[in-house]
Amino acid sequence: MLLYNSLTKQRDEFVPRFGKKVSMYTCGPTVYHFAHIGNLRTYTMEDVLEKYLRYLGYDVSRVMNVTDVGHLSSDGDTGEDKMLKGAKREHKTVMEIAKFYTDAFFADCEKLNIKRPDVIEPATNCIDEFIDMVKTLLEKGFAYEAGGNVYFDTSKIEKYYVFNDFSEDDLAVGVRDSVEEDGNKKNKADFVLWFTKSKFEDHELKWDSPWGVGYPGWHIECSCIARKHLGEYLDIHCGGIDNAFPHHTNEIAQSEATFGHEWCKYWFHVHHLNTSSGKMSKSKGEFLTVSLLEQKGYAPLVYRFFCMQSHYRKNLVFAWENLDNARTAYDKLVARVAALKPAEGEALDAAAFEEGKRRFTDALDNDLNTSLAVTALYDVFKLNTNDFTKLALIRDFEAVLSLGLIEAAGELEKDEAPALDPEFVAYIESMIEARRAAKKEKNFAEADRIRAELLEKGVTLLDTREGTKYTVE
Ligand code: AMP
Ligand code: ZN
Repeated sequence: MLLYNSLTKQRDEFVPRFGKKVSMYTCGPTVYHFAHIGNLRTYTMEDVLEKYLRYLGYDVSRVMNVTDVGHLSSDGDTGEDKMLKGAKREHKTVMEIAKFYTDAFFADCEKLNIKRPDVIEPATNCIDEFIDMVKTLLEKGFAYEAGGNVYFDTSKIEKYYVFNDFSEDDLAVGVRDSVEEDGNKKNKADFVLWFTKSKFEDHELKWDSPWGVGYPGWHIECSCIARKHLGEYLDIHCGGIDNAFPHHTNEIAQSEATFGHEWCKYWFHVHHLNTSSGKMSKSKGEFLTVSLLEQKGYAPLVYRFFCMQSHYRKNLVFAWENLDNARTAYDKLVARVAALKPAEGEALDAAAFEEGKRRFTDALDNDLNTSLAVTALYDVFKLNTNDFTKLALIRDFEAVLSLGLIEAAGELEKDEAPALDPEFVAYIESMIEARRAAKKEKNFAEADRIRAELLEKGVTLLDTREGTKYTVE
């Protein structure tokens, strides 16, 4: 599989370090607010990547952090802690906010058929691990203490700006956004590993450390959580493109300084979902959530389909009109799946199956081209083969695309089933009641007779814990 690697700035053949095992790390949400559908574009595309790797036979271990401490309102180490801001806004404690929005995040993921990572780790679970890495960085001379905080010294490593070839003068660009200069820093690009002094002293969550009572910087958490669960080597690290700098740049600096060797081979970055006025962002306060889409009558999987129709390395512009088009296309697709009716005795047409599958894998092997994979899905209907094979292909693709097509087609068929005659329903219900009474009186012969009479009329009874149910042919 070819995958664009932000580190080499080209499409590389994906070859994990240890045979079929893939260690995959994903930056998780900062849980101070609902995830917006821009965040969820990133998680959706990462989900497709993970599922495709599994489809190719890799044994993927995926770890995701949950940022419940340390993410400041500017990525350049200034501003208030985002979690604290959320807690103040809602008059709750930081931990209450974290719990609420973590649950909300995974509920949204479920609606979008995004698989839960194998490990989900909140940052506040790993304070010892953070302290340990900061200690190592100090011992090795990659970090220094100043003004009560511990900083990473970016001048101590060979190449800091790994994702972009900025000149020294440009190096301040990322920090310039945050305006306020931190006088403790030796170099503009240095970043905080551990805070004990900040302008915002009302921090709720603080821990003891060799450098005083304080809290970790944001970047350290991902390096340590990845190390805790996946060891010193990562195959692939994912996140939204805005994470490339400074967050991922800092993760690489501190991990490689700690380990003394290359850390992660492939970097997968998903580009942004934009609105007409620019990047959708939580801090701007104006953003769309999955619940809002539902309130407006869009099934969440329509949004997943919308994401699938464009390449993850292109910005995607959100407009209601585009979502409407996605919905129309999705509904038609479901109807076409529902219309596939394998006749009895149909068997898998191996040649056609291979042909359909080849189109699908060709698309995804080419830098996860999901829009071409969707085209391959449409091509299934054109294949000169039986419905059994077509359905088998769709099931196969769905292991990766997870659009809920088979389930939605099933629902459609149910809706289309002609309503039963109310008199017939009343008859069935009276027979069920008579059977119940017969059983109570231990008249099993009568109970069996009733079951047989109903069966003759196409009604199959099913005894469940909630009572007797039935299906009608
Ligand atoms: P956050 O919860 O802010 O830490 O962000 C969670 C993930 O969403 C990160 O991987 C971000 O890079 C990504 N992200 C943030 N905004 C957008 C956007 N507008 N479009 C796509 N991904 C985004
Ligand atoms: Zn991260």
